[in-house]
Amino acid sequence: MASKRILVWFRNDLRLHDHEPLTKALRTRAQVIPLYCFDPRHFATTSFGFAKTGVMRSQFLRESVANLQHSLQSLGSNLIVRYDRPEVVIPQFVKTLDLSAIYFHQEVTHEEKALDQAVEAAVPIPCHRFWGATLYHPDDLPIELSQLPELFTHFRKQVEQQSTVRPSFPKPTSLPTLPEVDLGSIPTLADLNLIPVESDPRTVLTFKGGETAGRTRIHDYVWGQDCLRRYKQTRNEMLGANYSSKFSPWLALGCLSPRLIYEHVKAYETERVKNDSTYWMVFELLWRDFFRFIAAKHGAHLFRRSGLRGLSFPWQTDTDVFDRWRQGQTGYPLVDANMRELLSTGFMSNRSRQNVASFLTKNLGINWQMGAEWFESQLIDYDVCSNWGNWNYTAGVGNDAREFRYFNILKQARDYDPKGNYVRHWLPELSKVPRTKVHEPWRLTAEEQTRLGLQLGQDYPHPMVDFQQSIAINKQRFALPKK
Ligand SMILES: Cc1cc2nc3c(=O)[nH]c(=O)nc-3n(C[C@H](O)[C@H](O)[C@H](O)COP(=O)(O)OP(=O)(O)OC[C@H]3O[C@@H](n4cnc5c(N)ncnc54)[C@H](O)[C@@H]3O)c2cc1C
Repeated sequence: MASKRILVWFRNDLRLHDHEPLTKALRTRAQVIPLYCFDPRHFATTSFGFAKTGVMRSQFLRESVANLQHSLQSLGSNLIVRYDRPEVVIPQFVKTLDLSAIYFHQEVTHEEKALDQAVEAAVPIPCHRFWGATLYHPDDLPIELSQLPELFTHFRKQVEQQSTVRPSFPKPTSLPTLPEVDLGSIPTLADLNLIPVESDPRTVLTFKGGETAGRTRIHDYVWGQDCLRRYKQTRNEMLGANYSSKFSPWLALGCLSPRLIYEHVKAYETERVKNDSTYWMVFELLWRDFFRFIAAKHGAHLFRRSGLRGLSFPWQTDTDVFDRWRQGQTGYPLVDANMRELLSTGFMSNRSRQNVASFLTKNLGINWQMGAEWFESQLIDYDVCSNWGNWNYTAGVGNDAREFRYFNILKQARDYDPKGNYVRHWLPELSKVPRTKVHEPWRLTAEEQTRLGLQLGQDYPHPMVDFQQSIAINKQRFALPKK
């Protein structure tokens, strides 16, 4: 038997490749004990009353944990699973398994950091934290995190000029067997107080959780279908599996590491083509890094109503208005199609997220935190830093907040869904409306409505606000932010 035992606590790093805690624990020749805890607090209710981890996100998580367990088994080990708080579970193992250390990936946000500290305080043995969520390691940045530029462009330029990406850690080829221990089991959706839903066949992609499916997606998108070649041209579309990479759900749970994706992009540039699309994929991964570093810099400010900038805008919290937005019943087809896609599949394109977030905050004047919490509940790619960072940014309370900026929903609809195929895909009631009016069904005459068998106000709602009027009202209300 190995002389010492190290517990590797898996969190948002559900993979075997590029896993520094696992690699470093193995290098000590210790017996490695892999553990994952389904933390009951993650399945509680948010402050605005949503399931913190909704059913689709929970299912993706369950699949990812199951896949990790399977991969560990295939290398001779296994995954211990508990449905309990880590700061309670881990100290028990310290005693019963006579552990000598705990290795894990650190997090940067408020609740997650509190958990790191709670675990460390609860055990009498060393805890080693590693950094593994970003493309660039913070130690390789040209600036201290506390000095991080508030604007992405400044950050990007400095990093591109002065930093390099570290190579990923290879996946281990074998693992020590586990001691006699109760492995536990992955909780069912019912255990998590969730009701299973059928997957919607209209989804952009059948997302399956886990490192195996994530790696398959890289191979398919980059190599098999050669989509990386045109990524920059297609990334703003909304319909179909390949307009963008869809790597985000696997990145969010750490089933894929950003460095692995980077290595594929670099190999693709050598073997096939290096162009603005290959650059842009890394550029987007840098946005992801930026939001994580910004979260690390600003702490709990990321989540407060006044945002990173501390701007106290008079946000509304009208739940009827909010419910129409989240159910896709605003009367603006682009917004409704997107909100129904989110509700049915747990995914939405980047362009769409920007539009619906702008509509909620700039047209409806609703508290952006409600939108962020709804996304947290629903998105299968929910990432605390990317979600709350992007919401800060879109709501105008983020670190780049300047004038009152908003998305012109109709212009966006015409630019990015010129034929109306996307809205028809998600709004069957508008399936027969011609492209000239599909984004503005309120322009249909009574005669046209009869001919199409569509009665506005009954089959599809009238617009809940006048677009320009609501912008003008909110622009005025939000004009003089008080610090
Ligand atoms: C209001 C709002 C909320 C968001 N919430 C999340 C979230 O919870 N989780 C999340 O991963 N992304 C979030 N995003 C960012 C972005 O919409 C998604 O990362 C992207 O749509 C995922 O699809 P993809 O993997 O096909 O992206 P691609 O276009 O293929 O991009 C590749 C990768 O780059 C990263 N990336 C791309 N755009 C962004 C961005 N704006 N911010 C941060 N990273 C980015 C993602 O990791 C993505 O997987 C949010 C954006 C907005 C406007």
